[in-house]
This record gives sequence, structure tokens and C-alpha cells, in this order.
Amino acid sequence: MLGGSAATILPMSLELVFLGTGTSAGVPMIGCDCPVCTSDDPRDRRSRPSVLIRYPRPRKSNPRPRKLNPCPRKDDARPPEVDTPTARGTSSPPMAMSGLPTPISDPQSLTPKPAPWDDPQVAAGGAAGADEERVCQFLIDTTPELRVQAIARRMNYVDGVFFTHAHADHVTGLDDLRRFNAVMDKAIPIYADRATLDRLAQMFTYIFEPGRNVNPTFIPNLIPHALEAGQEVELEGAKWTALSLRHGRLPVLGFRVDFAGQAVAYCTDVSSIPPETYPLLENLDVLVIDALRYRHHPTHLTVEQALHEVDQIKPKRAYFTHIAHDICHAELQEKLPAGVFLGYDGLNVIC
Ligand SMILES: [Zn+2]
Ligand SMILES: [Zn+2]
Ligand SMILES: [Zn+2]
Repeated sequence: MLGGSAATILPMSLELVFLGTGTSAGVPMIGCDCPVCTSDDPRDRRSRPSVLIRYPRPRKSNPRPRKLNPCPRKDDARPPEVDTPTARGTSSPPMAMSGLPTPISDPQSLTPKPAPWDDPQVAAGGAAGADEERVCQFLIDTTPELRVQAIARRMNYVDGVFFTHAHADHVTGLDDLRRFNAVMDKAIPIYADRATLDRLAQMFTYIFEPGRNVNPTFIPNLIPHALEAGQEVELEGAKWTALSLRHGRLPVLGFRVDFAGQAVAYCTDVSSIPPETYPLLENLDVLVIDALRYRHHPTHLTVEQALHEVDQIKPKRAYFTHIAHDICHAELQEKLPAGVFLGYDGLNVIC
């Protein structure tokens, strides 16, 4: 189903929202004035790679009580919410979440569209106004731009977070999850392989070993779940499958989500796909796959290699992500075969 209607706000089916599609340095890169880094095409502006997976919440699941956005009043003498976990509930009015415009959802259009942070219409789209009781949404990776991405998409809750691996461009926004904790007034489950969970615990000791903090501090409240490659998890009526991928020599995870006969797989940061993973990539409606640049890279697929993988896997549609400044969106998109697209920040893909 392709959609451009208000129904996208409350998806009837599986939906993937590109929050970021750039490589680890982002595009434009600091200190680069190449044609892509200085491009006027908003699709050439790529924040660090992350997606949101959304689908209708099963009716039988219990709606959660919602506690909206405690914004301190201007005359509130208390310090900001840092160090005051109990300061979340104030009498301040909640931030308005309703009456947002229809989102833009146009997965196959080649018409240039502004990045979400440039266009108020797109900025208000996507997850805008999503009804937490009716739609679940899971984040894959927490990039250093998570806050900007979440604000651009009006993301105000998250049911859980999946991590592909612990490289900085995929995890350093972890701290921003505390805002979702505060808004939802509940802990957030996170899912990753054991090596990634261990690395997160090393990188974010103040979150995972709060007893060592000097002061009581407003930190994310996370519930870690270890996943193994090949493992399946049932979440809100969808089946999530952890996929074994190779990122150079580093084993990382991709994720396949099956919901109501539709299937999407997200395979970022991959340079090769182990043979045992191909059967788990059959019958996909949408494949998202790493395509860093044209030249060889030891830990990422090139455009040519990504096209070869698309040929092997044969999804109905494929989208490239983790894109470097070597690639001009408009230039490459017109050369790609039918059914293969470059992702760009803010793009909604309806399965
Ligand atoms: Zn990366
Ligand atoms: Zn550049
Ligand atoms: Zn990586």
C-alpha cells in the first residue's frame, strides 16, 4: 500500500520511517564544501542512520495511561529536570499534540522533498499525532541526532529500542531516551546482542551503574534484553527476527519485522551477509540496506555490492541507507533500477 493520506498517521499496516540516512559523519560533513555537502537538495542532507518501525497496536493490549510532557513554567524556580527525577510531574500544561497536518508519505516519488527540519509540513508529519494507544513504534538505534530526529517527527513515545551495534553513530543519542521515559512515565525495553549491551554498559556507566553517580541524576530508565542472531521476539503482534550480519569483522544485527503478512528488514552497517541469513530475508516487501558510496570500503557495502545483494534477496522494494557525501541523491536515483531507491531523512515507507 502506498499512502499519502491521513491514514499514515495511524498506519493500517507496517510502516518504516527514515529518521536518518547518513553515514557516521553525517552529510554535510563538518568542514567539507564538496557539491553534495553544499547541495540545495534536502535529500542530500543526511543525519545519522536510524529508523522508526510502526504498526497498529493489537486491540487487546491495554492502553497505557499517558503522562504528557512536563514543561517547567517560566516562573518555576526549580532547576531543570536534571537531578530531579521526581520533578517530572508539574502542573504545567502539556505540550499540544493534536491538530497536526497530514503527513507526507510518498515512498516512490522522485520529487525532491525537504528534509524534515526544513519543512514544517514534513516536520509535522510521520509520527505526528500518533495515537499511542493505537500505534506502537519501535526505534532502531539512538543516533547522536535522536533529539532532533524525534522533534522533527513529533515522536513522543517509543515502545522499545533495538540496537544493531555499538558504534558511536548508532548509540550516542542513548541519553535522549530519558525524555521518552519522562513523557510515558515508564521504563523502555532495549534489545541488542550481548556484545552491544556490554559495550553500552561500558560507554554509559552513569546509566547502567547509577549507584556510582555522585548525585541522583535524571538518567534513562532502560530494561535490557539480550538477543542472539536468529532469535525471534513477538512484540505487540509483530514478529521481530534478529539477523546475523557482518560489518567488516564485527558481527552486527539487522532486524526483520513481520506484521499482518507484510515484512520489512533493516540491514545497515553491513559489508557481507552470512549464508544462514539469506533464508531469513526471503519474501520481503521492503529491504533497507547499507550502500555507503561507490568506492570499496572494508566495513560497508558499495552501491554496486548493495545492488548485487538486492538481486540476491529480491525484495519487492529496496532502499539504500548509511549514505556518504560521495553520493548525490538525484544523480544516483535516476540510474537505479526499478524498485530500488535511495532513502532520505523523513521518508515514510508503507509496506
Ligand atoms: Zn554506522
Ligand atoms: Zn562533502
Ligand atoms: Zn558501524
